[in-house]
Amino acid sequence: MEAEEFRRYGKQMVDFIADYISNIRERRVLPDVYPGYIRNLIPDHAPVEGESWEEVFKDIERVIMPGMTHWHSPHFHAFYPAANSFPALCADMLSGGLGCIGFTWASSPACTELEMVMLDWLGKMLHLPEEFLFCSKGPGGGVIQGTASEATLVALVSARNKVMSTSKTNVKDDVPMEKLICYASDQAHSSVEKAAMLGGLKFRSLPVDDALSLRGDILRAAILEDRAKGKIPFLVVGTLGTTNSCAFDNIKELGKVCSEEHLWFHIDAAYAGSAFICSEFRHLLDGVENADSFSMNPHKWLLVNFDCSTMWIKNRHDIVEAFSVNPLYLKHDKEGQIPDYRHVDLAHEFEELVKKDHRFEVVFPVTLGLVCFRVKGPDALNGEVLRLINERGRITLTPTIFKEMYVIRFAVCSKDTKSEDIRYAWREICYVTSQVLATRNL
Ligand code: PLP
Repeated sequence: MEAEEFRRYGKQMVDFIADYISNIRERRVLPDVYPGYIRNLIPDHAPVEGESWEEVFKDIERVIMPGMTHWHSPHFHAFYPAANSFPALCADMLSGGLGCIGFTWASSPACTELEMVMLDWLGKMLHLPEEFLFCSKGPGGGVIQGTASEATLVALVSARNKVMSTSKTNVKDDVPMEKLICYASDQAHSSVEKAAMLGGLKFRSLPVDDALSLRGDILRAAILEDRAKGKIPFLVVGTLGTTNSCAFDNIKELGKVCSEEHLWFHIDAAYAGSAFICSEFRHLLDGVENADSFSMNPHKWLLVNFDCSTMWIKNRHDIVEAFSVNPLYLKHDKEGQIPDYRHVDLAHEFEELVKKDHRFEVVFPVTLGLVCFRVKGPDALNGEVLRLINERGRITLTPTIFKEMYVIRFAVCSKDTKSEDIRYAWREICYVTSQVLATRNL
């Protein structure tokens, strides 16, 4: 494709995307295809002669769309939101067009400099303590990771490196890796346990209180118990806004224990983090001053396309030390130097609808954009309702387990979800529930 064709086809693609997003509400939110469906729609080997762009373009609707889950549909209430927006799509196009890889300042100065300033801006919007910002002139600062899972892995490897070495060249030989152990609540995202697996380290999941919150006394008891067994506790991951139910660990208590016991404290606020920009939710972040690192996902709520997870650390040298390999070809002479919070109101609107219907119950307090609810009755009934809702494909929801009960999660995900979509979803849920209850009562 030459530049002139790119001008034409690029505009066609912009039109396609604009139409797709404008009309997304009309599409069935879940696909209705079977595993292997694409194999039946395209040849089993690459064409010897290239096809025209027009032919390739037609395949978007013919081949791709039937197998798409429409994450940006106002009827998508599964998992947590994935953000995008027209400005972010334009920015993605520019980023692809410039196509540079900013692995050092010298490899493309604008990349590093813009990232540093944006991380300071966002850190200030979140009212993060100064120590986390570049402008403090201290060793703190922020960095963009792909995902929150990566941020947790980076925190884990940095904490491991810190406990095992006084400097990169001075490894403490009295710290055997197999004795290291890290902690998170049993509600933490699976990426914490996975990070420990990838780092070759032990992970202990700790029980939570009735509010599904990990408390300081439970953590301290675990640390003391493990130390008595000869283990070396080195990291705690606290969660603000768990994936299951949007619960909040008590980060004030956890941070205090970590400071006293000299453990790295990482806070994972992948979903909830964006909300802390709002003054009415900022108190949920109180205690972050005791953390060593903190991460949240602009790609969930801040209208930034996947993938963009922001991470701040109090001492960036801990990360640089842990990951630096710095071969000669990377060296350079400068070395060393909007949010859409209607989600929350809409979640409360949904919560009210659930509460008004005696057949349902809300099982966990709603703080942000997630409502955990269930049909009163056995787990199998709830499983059947959810299966049928997703099979019909008008809306989509996901399950979780709360206090050993099967629970349905309703997340307000799309930036375009409106009150009418909440009522649409509720009608669908009521319709399916009535059908399932009627068959059961036959
Ligand atoms: N942590 C929490 C609390 C989450 O809710 C999620 C995903 O929803 C993640 C981590 C994983 O996020 P990512 O896909 O950015 O790794």
